[in-house]
Amino acid sequence: MKKQFKAESKKLLDLMIHSIYTNQEIFLRELISNASDAIDKLYYLSLTNKEIKLKKKDFKITLAIDKKARTLTITDNGIGMNQEELEENLGTIAKSGSSLFKEAMEKKKNIDIIGQFGVGFYSSFMVASSVSVTSRKYDSEKAYTWISSGVDGYQIKESKKDTIGTEIVLTLKEGEEYDSFLEEYIIRKIVKKYSDYISYPITMNVTHRHKKENSEEYEEHTEEETLNSMIPLWKKEKKEIKEEEYQQFYHDKFFDYEDSLHTIHSSVEGKCTYTTLLYIPSHAPYDFYTKEYEKGLQLYANGVLIMEKCKELLPDYYSFVKGLVDTSDLSLNISREMLQQDKNLELIAQNIEKKIQKELTTMLKEDREKYEKFFTAFGMQLKFGIYNSYGMKKEELQDLLLFPSSKEKKFVTLQEYVSHMPEKQDKIYYACGETVDKIDLLPQVEALKEKGYEVLYFTDYVDEFVAQVLNRYQEKEFVNVADSQVDLDTEEEKKELAKQNEELKDIFTIMKDTLKDQVSDIRLTHRLKNHPVCLTSEGNVSLEMEKVINAMPTDEKIKAKAILEINANHEIRKKLETLYHENPSELEKYTKILYAQARLIEGLPIENPTEISNLVCEVIAR
Ligand code: ADP
Repeated sequence: MKKQFKAESKKLLDLMIHSIYTNQEIFLRELISNASDAIDKLYYLSLTNKEIKLKKKDFKITLAIDKKARTLTITDNGIGMNQEELEENLGTIAKSGSSLFKEAMEKKKNIDIIGQFGVGFYSSFMVASSVSVTSRKYDSEKAYTWISSGVDGYQIKESKKDTIGTEIVLTLKEGEEYDSFLEEYIIRKIVKKYSDYISYPITMNVTHRHKKENSEEYEEHTEEETLNSMIPLWKKEKKEIKEEEYQQFYHDKFFDYEDSLHTIHSSVEGKCTYTTLLYIPSHAPYDFYTKEYEKGLQLYANGVLIMEKCKELLPDYYSFVKGLVDTSDLSLNISREMLQQDKNLELIAQNIEKKIQKELTTMLKEDREKYEKFFTAFGMQLKFGIYNSYGMKKEELQDLLLFPSSKEKKFVTLQEYVSHMPEKQDKIYYACGETVDKIDLLPQVEALKEKGYEVLYFTDYVDEFVAQVLNRYQEKEFVNVADSQVDLDTEEEKKELAKQNEELKDIFTIMKDTLKDQVSDIRLTHRLKNHPVCLTSEGNVSLEMEKVINAMPTDEKIKAKAILEINANHEIRKKLETLYHENPSELEKYTKILYAQARLIEGLPIENPTEISNLVCEVIAR
C-alpha cells in the first residue's frame, strides 16, 4: 500500500525533484554523512554493549556503481533502522538541516543555497528517479525496504538482508548530466571534495585496465579502494587547510548558510591535551533568542563524537559560538553525569573561555569593522554576561563592550571614552532612549555636549542595568544625564541658582499642588540650553528603568522620583512669574502643559492626552 508524505516533506521533495541546482553532486555528501552518523551511533553502542561484535576497524561505507542498471548504491554497517524508524525518518521532514533550509529558502528565494545546507536524504531525488532503502537494525533479524519514486508517496515492505546496516540504491534519472554519477573517477572526486574527513573508510571497487604483456589486448582487474583520507579537518595542520575548507565544514556541520565571521583553530598540549575548532557566526541564528536554542560544542574523544551539544564547554555569554572540541583525555563511554564533574572538561572550558576572550580582544584591536559586525550581532550577550553575573565577569567583559556616543554617533569602548575625557570631567555620562537620534536630541544631552563632554548613548534596555552593575570604570562613576545630581555649575552659579529658586518658591508650591505626586520636586536649572523644561530623577530608579521594568510582564511596578526642571534662562520663567501675579488659575494650565512636554521629550506616555491637547489649543487660540 502506498503511503503519502507529510505536506511539509512533499514540498521539500518537490523542490528537490525539480531543482535545476548546479551542485547536484552534494546528494552524495548527504548520504555519506548519514551513513557515517549511523556508524557513529553503533560504534558508540558497541563500547558498552558486548553483543555487538564489530570493532572500529570493521566499520565502513561502500559505494557501488552499476552502469547497466543505472544504479549507484551506498551501503553502511551502522545502526540501521527498523520499520517504524524508516517510516518516521524518511516519511517526514527531518528536524535539523531541512527546516533551516526551508526557512532560508523562504527568505532568500534562491535555489543556490541548497549546497550550504544539510538538506539530507531527500537530496537524492535531485538525481534519482527512484530510491530504495533497505535496512536492518543492529538488534533485529528482520529487514525492511522503503521505496519511492517521488512525490506520489512511498511503500515499506519486509525484505531480506544478511548484514546489519543500511543499503541505499539510487536509480539515476535519464540524461547526460546524471550519467556522470556512474563514472568511478567522478564519484572519487566528489568523495574527496566533500567527505574526505569522514572518519570511516569509504570504499569502492575500482576497475583498472592494463595492457597484457606482449600483446595489444587489455586486461581488467577490479580492486577495492579507499577514497577518503579519513583525517578529520581539525586534525590537519592549520597551514594545510584552506579557508574554503573551514567554511565548507562550518556549513555542513553547523547548518549556517552564511560564512562564519571568525574561525579559531587551536591545539593545546599539557595538563590536558585537546584541539578546538570554533566558529563565531556572522549573524544570530533564527532561533537564537528562543527557548529552543541550545548552546554547546560538539565533544569528541579521540575523533569519536560523544556528544552533539556539550553545554558545559561554553559560558552563556558566549552561547553563540559553534564548534567542537576533540580531546584524548576523556574516556569514550563517559556518562552525562560523570562528564559534568570531570576536571579535564572543566579545565578545557576555562581555557576555551579565555581563548574566545583573547580572540575578541585582538579582533577589536586589529579589525574594528569586523568587531563591530560581531558586536552588532552578539553584543547583547556580553552585556547580559555582566548583568547576570552581578558583575563577577566584569573584568573579562567590560573592555569588549561598545556603545554609540555623542562624539560622532559611532561606537566607542569604555577605554576610548575615558581617554577622550577633558581633565575636569570625572564621571562617565550616559543617556538612555530608543534610538541614537532620539537620544541625541534630549535636552540634558545638549548641555553636556556644550561643555565638551562625551555622552554614551544607551539604546538597549539592559544598558543602564549594566552600568549599574559596573558602577565604575577605571574609578569613574557612571552617571545618567537625567540624574538630578548631575551638576556642571561653578560654586558661584550654584549660589545664584539657589537664590533664584528661593525667589520662585511660592510659584513652585502652586505648580507642585497641580501636579500632585507626579513629581517630587520642581526647580530651576542651568542644564538646559534652548529647551524650556526637562525631567530628571532622584535616587536609584531612573525614568528609563521605570519604563523598562513597568513594560515587563510582571506585577512589579516601580516609580522613579521625577523632578521637573525649568530652564532658568528661558522666557518661560518670566511668563510663570507674570501668571502668578496676574492670573494664578492660568498658572495651573501652563504647569500641566509644561509637564506633558517634558514627558514627551523623554519618550514617556502622558496620562491625559485629551486634556493636554485641549489646553494647548486654548492657549494657541488666544
Ligand atoms: P538528518 O540527517 O538531517 O536528520 P535526513 O533526512 O538526512 O536528515 O535523515 C533523516 C533521518 O533518517 C536521520 O536523522 C537518521 O535517523 C535516519 N537515517 C538516514 N540515513 C540513515 C542511515 N544510513 N542509517 C541509519 N539511519 C539513517
